[in-house]
Amino acid sequence: MADAEVIVAGAGPTGLMLAYELRLAGVDVLLLERAPERGTVESRAGGLHARTMEVLDQRGILGPFLEAGRPIQAGHFSGLWLDFTGFPSRYPYLLGILQTKVERLLEERVLPAGARLRRSAEVVGLRQDEAGVEVEVAGPDGTERLSAAYLVGCDGGRSTVRRLAGIGFPGTPATLTALLGDVELADPPEDLIFQERREGGAISVLQLEPGWYRVMTQQYDRVAGRDEPVTLDTLRQACLSIAGTDYGMHTPRWLSRFGDAARQASAYRSGRVLLAGDAAHVHFPAGGQGLNLGVQDAVNLGWKLASVVAGHTPESLLDTYHSERHPVAERVLQNTRAQTALSRVDSHTTALREVLGKLIEFDDVNRYLGEMVSALDVRYPMGAGHPLAGHRVPDADIETSSGDTRVFRLLHAGRGVLLDLTAGAEYGAAAAPWADRVDVVRATSAADRWVMPSLGAVPVPAAVLLRPDGHIAWAADAGSLPGALTRWFGPPR
Ligand SMILES: Cc1cc2nc3c(=O)[nH]c(=O)nc-3n(C[C@H](O)[C@H](O)[C@H](O)COP(=O)(O)OP(=O)(O)OC[C@H]3O[C@@H](n4cnc5c(N)ncnc54)[C@H](O)[C@@H]3O)c2cc1C
Repeated sequence: MADAEVIVAGAGPTGLMLAYELRLAGVDVLLLERAPERGTVESRAGGLHARTMEVLDQRGILGPFLEAGRPIQAGHFSGLWLDFTGFPSRYPYLLGILQTKVERLLEERVLPAGARLRRSAEVVGLRQDEAGVEVEVAGPDGTERLSAAYLVGCDGGRSTVRRLAGIGFPGTPATLTALLGDVELADPPEDLIFQERREGGAISVLQLEPGWYRVMTQQYDRVAGRDEPVTLDTLRQACLSIAGTDYGMHTPRWLSRFGDAARQASAYRSGRVLLAGDAAHVHFPAGGQGLNLGVQDAVNLGWKLASVVAGHTPESLLDTYHSERHPVAERVLQNTRAQTALSRVDSHTTALREVLGKLIEFDDVNRYLGEMVSALDVRYPMGAGHPLAGHRVPDADIETSSGDTRVFRLLHAGRGVLLDLTAGAEYGAAAAPWADRVDVVRATSAADRWVMPSLGAVPVPAAVLLRPDGHIAWAADAGSLPGALTRWFGPPR
């Protein structure tokens, strides 16, 4: 008997979200986490983008995140401000919330949902065959072997699982050195969000919480070695050389150094081993996208893996995880490369920034960049079909006989949904043989058009088939509904 149906290595935001998705579908999940306790010092990610808030809302768990964060109406592209207020989303803003809080809130939902979490448990070896995966785990009491049907490496940028599975990690090396300190400042700049580019590099100061600031410098004249120590004095010297002041920094809570290496796993799956989050992609934290990308990987993978484990769909469904999510991260890597190129401080780059700064004043440019960094415009390739196919469904106002008033509420259970917006029973009858996996919901739509990222206003179709991740798998009447049901949910019962 296996120790779990799925073992997830790493209880960062990606691993926690994946475990939640798997538990929602009833999968027996074991999370293995190397760290003895959840970190409270490494603040790392500073915010959740619109699409991440949407996926949490789709599961009915967004409330505590909204309460713990603060809305910021703007985002940025390489420090050039973007206005998010026109987003076609219920959440047209960036939610300022530190990664430590995101992890705590996720953990508070994952454990009661029934996931098992073992800390001080480091994955150090793996072996797989057609029947399953055997994972070697090192802990305080020595090494043991655990078995599962699948292993997902959510173990961060230096992923052991990726290395052990022999998956390549090609990309581009670092070209700059960034230093970061979460510190107290005796003499902070006046602006709550402050950034400047000077001859010696770029500097930004962001107030994280009252009395607590994040100071970040970027220097382009050298690439520091990965293991060079970083001290308060290193950060202070970098600030002095760029800005001529260290803002009276003291009492560091977290100091870090990173570069802009951008790399991506060549395959997101090797047999029974999969990768998600930073284990699958790393890039410069420009525009605040990494955590968001990982959470969305998890939401794409969770229901597919659960369906394969339950025997509803063939293993080939897992290949769509790579074909859908690899291009999404590839685009993020490209946009972060563009952002770091634009952050350079030479006069040619300054001229280019001025041009882009003017372009961003055009609504279409602002919207294009905003919907890209917030991942609202992600569309999965579904082949020929309805123009809405592959897009995420909007959280449109509807009315159902059971009193639901918006689309996202229908996705709380993490099941497929056939949303029938007609007065007839034709679509519901067609989906009936999938009733164990797909809910049929009859509703009336409050509007006759949905406003979609990158598409604009689109007439509301008579019916849509929604995957558990909220993406539209089929819309009436383009293509076969039974065909789409079989493709995404397996053969009819
Ligand atoms: C300064 C900075 C600012 C950032 N800002 C943003 C931002 O604003 N927005 C954003 O979206 N992203 C941001 N990011 C990126 C974000 O922090 C990462 O993308 C995110 O942490 C990835 O989550 P993850 O769960 O995939 O990996 P991680 O958070 O790295 O979690 C991996 C987990 O796996 C565990 N682990 C590692 N090896 C093993 C093993 N062998 N066995 C078991 N467990 C293991 C680790 O202990 C860790 O808990 C920022 C990053 C940095 C450094």
